[in-house]
Amino acid sequence: MDAFIVSIGTELVTGQCLDTNAAWLSGEFARSGIGVLGHITVGDDTERVAAAICQAAAEAELVVVTGGIGPTPDDVTRESLATAIGQPLELNPEALAGIEALFARWQRPMDDANRIQAMIPRGCGVIPNERGTAPGIQAQFDGTVVIVLPGVPAEMKAMFRQAVATVLADEAGGNSIATGRLNCFGISESKVGELLSDLMQRSRNPQVGTTATEGTISVRVTARGATPDAAQRLLAADLAEAQVRLGRAVYGVDDQSLQASVAGLLLQHGKTVATAESCTGGLLARRLTDVSGSSAFFHRGYVTYSNESKSELLGVPCEMIEAEGAVSEAVASAMAVGCRTSAGTDYALSITGIAGPTGGLPPDKPVGLVYLGLASADGVIVKRLLAGEHLTRSQIRDRGSKAALNLLRHSLLELGSS
Ligand code: ATP
Repeated sequence: MDAFIVSIGTELVTGQCLDTNAAWLSGEFARSGIGVLGHITVGDDTERVAAAICQAAAEAELVVVTGGIGPTPDDVTRESLATAIGQPLELNPEALAGIEALFARWQRPMDDANRIQAMIPRGCGVIPNERGTAPGIQAQFDGTVVIVLPGVPAEMKAMFRQAVATVLADEAGGNSIATGRLNCFGISESKVGELLSDLMQRSRNPQVGTTATEGTISVRVTARGATPDAAQRLLAADLAEAQVRLGRAVYGVDDQSLQASVAGLLLQHGKTVATAESCTGGLLARRLTDVSGSSAFFHRGYVTYSNESKSELLGVPCEMIEAEGAVSEAVASAMAVGCRTSAGTDYALSITGIAGPTGGLPPDKPVGLVYLGLASADGVIVKRLLAGEHLTRSQIRDRGSKAALNLLRHSLLELGSS
């Protein structure tokens, strides 16, 4: 089966908004073994949108359209779809009930304009939207399934799987598909490829592939089987094998974040942590407190940006900063030790580095140089990270805070499964 993606929105064709929906949908289709013949992007113009739907439907058996189903006059997709399939728009009771239920849940009065969103071309199915007011639409058009989803990425993604599940199941000839993901940090994508090369052969079932995003390497496994159980068994076997080969580089599965994994280990061992940050400006503390229930393990975070604050709050000797520089192994170590003493926690993490783009002093102290400290009852360890001068300020801060979490994760793994 082949698919076509149609993205609607004047903000997309004028470059004010990047079309991330088409990229995300293409990735999802690729993982399901469905070829994407192309993307069309058009502005909020009734005729152009209708023409784009017709063109896509003439080429592919499945068309996914995103955007233009809001309540305002510039949202033309409903009307364009009606024109394309030659059916009138009519008030759909199921769609209206869904929108009314949403407003009732939000405890807000519904505007009359929202009734427009329940206008669906005759004979089409409604795809419920739990996160927003725009219901999706499923239409049949000369043997092609056309699925219309909201433009807002979070709503579109939440509805996509449910919307195309039946289409994908038909495509798989009654076969079931099971997917899973292992997330790794502190290992390169090429190393992962080397360790899993035989599993990644293109003709295999399951299919195994990798993606690298912001320092995280994900191993994606897609298994096909005659039954859901058979697909799950194949998936589980490959995930287990990949896990063994990748070892401690794997921090989590599916949507699990690095901080959630660290939080799980801290809770499992009943340990606490505090942070002392310079170049990351509190990002590490934010990541740790992103986890619900973090007060059970996270005590406090210092943002010690100036030299004086490193001395005043963490007891780092001024002479040390003078002699070694604020970005140094000695200062990272003293920050971690001072933080642990003052917070009274089991662990303390410190970060000091040069996030750039200014302030680098190559070759010894280039932009991207970050020292990470970890203090515990066993003493203190410091890790030197060269994030790379080519990265942006926010990327260097991102990598620094993740590397600090990973340092703590490895230390917690040493405690075993007690
Ligand atoms: P709503 O009822 O929420 O307005 P909608 O389907 O009408 O839903 P649009 O108005 O087309 O959605 O888009 C809403 C916002 O979603 C846009 O302003 C943009 O920020 C984002 N968006 C729309 N299409 C895309 C896309 N293809 N890629 C990324 N973001 C998009």
